[in-house]
Amino acid sequence: MPLVSMRQLLDEAAKGGYGVGAFNVNDMEQIQAIMAAAKETNSPVIIQASRGARSFAQDRFLFHLILAAAELYPEIPIAMHQDHGNSFETCKSAIDLGYTSVMMDGSLKEDGKTPASFEENVAVTKRVVDFAHERGVTVEGEIGVLGGVEDGHGAGGTGLEHVTDPDQAVEFAEKTGVDALAIAIGTSHGAYKFTKKPDGSVLKMDVLIAIHKRLPNTHLVMHGSSSVPKDLQDIINKYGGKLKETWGVPVEEIQLGIRNGVRKVNVDTDNRLAMTGAIRKVLWETPEKFDPRDYLKPAREAMQKVVAQRMTQFGQAGHAGDYKAVSIAEIAKGYKNGSLSTRPLVAAK
Ligand SMILES: [Zn+2]
Repeated sequence: MPLVSMRQLLDEAAKGGYGVGAFNVNDMEQIQAIMAAAKETNSPVIIQASRGARSFAQDRFLFHLILAAAELYPEIPIAMHQDHGNSFETCKSAIDLGYTSVMMDGSLKEDGKTPASFEENVAVTKRVVDFAHERGVTVEGEIGVLGGVEDGHGAGGTGLEHVTDPDQAVEFAEKTGVDALAIAIGTSHGAYKFTKKPDGSVLKMDVLIAIHKRLPNTHLVMHGSSSVPKDLQDIINKYGGKLKETWGVPVEEIQLGIRNGVRKVNVDTDNRLAMTGAIRKVLWETPEKFDPRDYLKPAREAMQKVVAQRMTQFGQAGHAGDYKAVSIAEIAKGYKNGSLSTRPLVAAK
């Protein structure tokens, strides 16, 4: 299948009542792991690259690796997404390259660290939406600020410092016309999300429900949604690692989110943990080995296992064949004629 619009993929997810994992990639093995998991579970998928990933892998390497995935797996809908664009220029460069979706994270200033004002966020996001929609490309915005830092991006702190205000979320969606909206409901980026075991209500579900009720056509996005499973931490520490004890977002909480309008779920840390644990194990147990394939193959398999599990838990498994790709040109027409407008159900006050 050619790359599909993330908007189409999320509209289908909304119809089907499931969430779609958005997995970060930096290299070939991670893309292969995701695609093997998508085939195994028959899942549509979002492959996303941060600015850090684009510079690590070099734009054209990463772009062509993802295109290879689309060629090799014609039965799987794949959206190619820019994660946490920090400026109009970053988003434009992804769109010019051929990404079918971009995130404009205007919740932070261009440095990716300092919280921006609401007005600044609206202005830069609207500019990206106008440019992207004209080209059939999906836009995810962000309102509220997530905790933690990942790939040098983030305001730090805990996830509960800047929880999204539902009224502001509605006003933001109305003023920008974003297709998807990342909201801050207590999650953080990185491995260290919670310093003690979460007690079952770690996320601000009431905020999520309030936003979804008023923005039923805007797909909600959960960032920092790795579960940081103890068994993956244990493997790393068993084979020489030194991770501090930490807790992620329980899968049940994510599933509750999905039942309340969350359609895109960002997962990165769990895959990093799985790969690193597998590599450490090989090098620890067989220190005489030096062929990178000896540890990259188990690393790829370990990531595939985690991704397949998440695809099943988020509900996207089994849905790859539900629809045919609508061309990006056709999607652009939908934005132009208003049929893809995401008007809030209740206008902002
Ligand atoms: Zn994020």
